[in-house]
Amino acid sequence: MLNIVLFGPPGSGKGTQATKLVEKYNLVHLSTGDIFRANIKGETDLGKLAKSYLDKGQLVPDEVTIDILQSEATKHTTAEGFIFDGFPRTITQAEALDKYLASRNTSVTMMLSLEVPEEELRKRLLLRGKDSGRADDQNPEVIQNRIDIYHRDTAPAKEFYTAQKKYRAINGVGEIETIFQALCSEINSVQHS
Ligand code: ADP
Repeated sequence: MLNIVLFGPPGSGKGTQATKLVEKYNLVHLSTGDIFRANIKGETDLGKLAKSYLDKGQLVPDEVTIDILQSEATKHTTAEGFIFDGFPRTITQAEALDKYLASRNTSVTMMLSLEVPEEELRKRLLLRGKDSGRADDQNPEVIQNRIDIYHRDTAPAKEFYTAQKKYRAINGVGEIETIFQALCSEINSVQHS
């Protein structure tokens, strides 16, 4: 299996690139943010819980996030591979993902990390807030909170994959197509090695 962790701060372009990668490599796209938003829209119990965190720009607790991710992944028994988008966002989640994939006799192939400077992130998120209506993209304080939490809780996951020699940084500024090509060449390099 080809299992890609697509990583990067809020607004770094994970969703955009994941959509393209899924198509090219025939992978299942699992975005925890999308799962939470679908549940909020459907007014499920999970949605009600998740909303209280998303509205403030906080992370949904690990136990809840890990459970939902695993139950979604488990629905795909014949997948050729996964793109994990927005997961793992903590070391605890990274450890849980390793365990889960090991139970399926597979593992994370690599973490591809989209690197984008903070000023650019703030600009992109505010623009997305206007275009998409996403509430968490409309408030500068919530945006700053997400960026701060990224640095504090999420960025350490890079170390976790660096230790496994699976971490690759990609410049996330530029044309969507150029960034996509850079991601593909990393993926192709392991596929052919
Ligand atoms: P972005 O990366 O632009 O912030 P996402 O759609 O990935 O957007 O995430 C939106 C929100 O969903 C996050 O701010 C957080 O509240 C919640 N969320 C998503 N993934 C996780 C996760 N792995 N762990 C905890 N909370 C998460």
